[in-house]
Order: sequence, then structure tokens, then C-alpha cells
Amino acid sequence: MARRIPEPFRIKMVEPIRQTTAEDRRQALVQAGWNPFLLKAEDVYIDLLTDSGTGAMSDRQWAGLMMGDEAYAGSRNFLHLADTVRELFGYAHTIPTHQGRGAEQILFPELVKRCRGERPVFLSNYHFDTTKAHVELAGARAVNVLTPQALDTGAAYDWKGDFDLPRLREIVAAEGDNVAAVIITITCNSAGGQPVSMGNIRAASELARARGIPVVIDAARFAENAWFIRERDPAYAGASIPAIAREMFGHGDMFTMSAKKDGLVNIGGLCCFKDDEALFREVQVRCVPMEGFVTYGGLAGRDMEAARCRCVACRWKVSSPMAAWRDATWRLWR
Ligand SMILES: *Cc1c(COP(=O)(O)O)cnc(C)c1O
Repeated sequence: MARRIPEPFRIKMVEPIRQTTAEDRRQALVQAGWNPFLLKAEDVYIDLLTDSGTGAMSDRQWAGLMMGDEAYAGSRNFLHLADTVRELFGYAHTIPTHQGRGAEQILFPELVKRCRGERPVFLSNYHFDTTKAHVELAGARAVNVLTPQALDTGAAYDWKGDFDLPRLREIVAAEGDNVAAVIITITCNSAGGQPVSMGNIRAASELARARGIPVVIDAARFAENAWFIRERDPAYAGASIPAIAREMFGHGDMFTMSAKKDGLVNIGGLCCFKDDEALFREVQVRCVPMEGFVTYGGLAGRDMEAARCRCVACRWKVSSPMAAWRDATWRLWR
């Protein structure tokens, strides 16, 4: 079993929270109709609703906030962010968005427009809820093609986020021109944050590309997925997290990302294109009325700087502490 070394950072800020009694919490739950989404945050003592946008930022990120260039167009923070995307993922074109769903709402209608079939369909290992919603809002169908092993909660399996490849091959053949895109969700969050193996990413991508189908990476937890690959696939035991990330993204043509997860910022998202400049331009046009001008996409300059500082400061030499925590929990359950 791998030796776990404490992550190399220290915490230097505290935020006091209200202490509540069991009775306070019971009352708050009753008032909320047992729906945790309706609770007031100050009534919650330990908040496990989500990690989305709730993380602490690093000193570099807080410093980045002070360097915000709030010019309407061409903010230097946008240029920094686009440079960082180019360097870390190898994608030429970047559109910032307010969140992951912002990227989905500007990209999917353009993929539907490009689809030659009459009944457009998106195929994913598992569509995230907003992803499925934006596929359907764009007038297409969302079909999940998850490995059956994922559904056996009693069995341990390293890659429960994988596509069911034989099934994917069947559906692609049956749907023909209807397939608007294959969406590879890393990690596969709606199946429990389960990782997708590099072999599966590669195979799904090759299958799509052989038929000219665009490959979208839904990349909210890309750093954790890379980390899982290093932990569980002996072929990557000595590889760096950035090198694994780079290889994963090499199998996509474009990606949408919620930066609120592994991006470790409180708000932000990305919609990026490896080299399809024509599609990038079309999505930019849609960005303006939906998200904002193409160099801020619903974010303040300072938010873009915080997102890219995280990338530069950490570079995933170690992955997120959240990944280590999840893995520890997973081992415990096994
Ligand atoms: C969170 C998430 C999204 C949506 O991102 P938001 O920032 O919440 O809009 C899309 N896909 C996946 C896999 C996610 O985890």
C-alpha cells in the first residue's frame, strides 16, 4: 500500500462558524423540509453538500485577486489564463465562462448545428445533470454508456467511470450521422466520482474520431482522474500528474470545465478548443449574449487570475488533497 505523505501546504486563515445544538439543527432541517439545498449555510456545522466552489484558495490565488485587470475587453488576466491552458492542456483557443454549465450552454447548440443527422444524440460515459439538461435544451438526446461494473456497488473495480466500449461501438454504428459528440466525463461524477482509465479514454476517442465525431472532455475533476491513473495503472506509476493530464486532453478535441472543482476557485469555467478555430469562432459568437464578451465570459478579471494562479502554483506535483481523501475513504470501504 502506498505511503501517504502529508500534502505540502499549511493553513494560515480561519473563519469562525456558529456552533449549533442538535435541537437547532433538527429545527433547521424540519423548516427546510429535510432538503439540504434549502438550509441556511449558517445553520450547518459540517457542510458536505458539495465541494463545488467551496474550497479555500492559496496565497498565490488571493494575491492574484489583487491583480485583477477589470478592462471590459482584452484583460491581461484572460491572456494569462489562455496561456496557461495552452501550456498545460495543449489547447489553442480559450473561452472563459461563469461555470461549467456556461461552457455547456454555448458549446452544445453549435455541435447540434454541425450534426448531419436528423435526431442528434450525445453519448457519454455518464452525463452530469447540467450536461444532460443542456444537451436536451439544445434539442438533442443524451445517452449514457457506462460500464455495467459501475452499478455493482458491492464490488470493487478500479475504473467504474469507464465507457462500456462494446455498447458504445454498437450505438455509434446504429446512430450513424446522429452522433453530435462523444463526451468523456473525467472523473465520472454522476457515477460517484469514479475514474476513467487512460485505455478507455483512448479507445472511446479513437472510436469517435474514426467516424469524424467530435470528442468533448467534461473535465471538472481532471486532476483527480490523472491522480487515480497514476495510483491504479502500473503503466503510469512513475508519470507526473501534468504529463498524465496532457495525455488525457490529447484524446479530446475540445473541453468544458467547471473550475469550481479541481480548479479550486469559488467561481469559473472554461470552454476550450484544441485546433478547431471555426467552431471556436462560432461558440465565441454565442458567448457574447449568453455569458459575456469573449475575454471574460461572465467572470471578473480577478476571478480569471485566481483560476490560472492555482494552475501555475500547484502544477499538480501532488494532486488535490480531496483526491487523497477520496482515495483513502474508498480504501476504507473496500
Ligand atoms: C460540476 C460539473 C459540471 C457543471 O459545472 P458548474 O460549474 O457547476 O456549472 C459539469 N460537469 C461535471 C462533470 C461537473 O462535475
